[in-house]
Amino acid sequence: MTALLSVTGLEATYGPVKALHGIDFEVKEGGVTALLGANGAGKTTTLRAICRMVKTRGDILFDGASITRKATEDVVRLRIAHVPEGRGTFTTLSVEENLQLGAMTRPAPGIAADIERIYAYFPRLRERRAQQAGSLSGGEQQMLAIGRALMLRPRLMLLDEPSFGLAPLITQELFAILATVKREENVSMLVVEQNANLALDIADEAYLFETGRVVMSGPAETIRQDEGIRRAYLGF
Ligand code: ATP
Repeated sequence: MTALLSVTGLEATYGPVKALHGIDFEVKEGGVTALLGANGAGKTTTLRAICRMVKTRGDILFDGASITRKATEDVVRLRIAHVPEGRGTFTTLSVEENLQLGAMTRPAPGIAADIERIYAYFPRLRERRAQQAGSLSGGEQQMLAIGRALMLRPRLMLLDEPSFGLAPLITQELFAILATVKREENVSMLVVEQNANLALDIADEAYLFETGRVVMSGPAETIRQDEGIRRAYLGF
């Protein structure tokens, strides 16, 4: 598998705070990469850097071309979809209106069929298609945020803590759906997750972050089976 996203020497600062100290990682075409690590390690900043929402040094290559000089809307046009922490659905709009908005930056043909495709992944959203997004449960809002990102027909989907604030059962359901999406869609994923166990289940490769640096990386299966790494870095 060739790299769809390749990040080298990525640095980011917020005023006097250096959040990333030269990060290297990649996401392979059709693959899932997990970024793991404690709070404040720089995972969210890394996703925001790819969306060009923070100033950075270093290089970010998408499909072989640098995107470091692009504006956020141009990154979206390259079909990189961001599902941010806190989900960011439009709370006063209906489920279906949120999905329609996800397709705003792409050509119109196929939108109705794509909405049906999203409903097939997330039957709960079909049942609630006319309901205001703000009245959905946390898990349903996360499903809607992922569904909306899929409406872009993304080549790369950036998922920031999909399990955040969700009950274990809903989290499991969500990751099972993500595993199906991985199998059935031509999409690569970069997943930031505190729940390392679940993330390693769907990931092909994982990178462990610690205070703005990558301290360990490798095939997800290798990391999951290494008790030393799990104890030292992942706490399970
Ligand atoms: P979390 O899981 O808590 O979101 P994270 O690994 O995603 O953690 P980041 O949110 O990327 O970590 O934060 C990395 C560092 O940058 C932290 O030290 C954080 O305090 C700092 N930081 C993040 N956003 C800002 C900001 N807007 N202004 C100043 N410092 C920030």
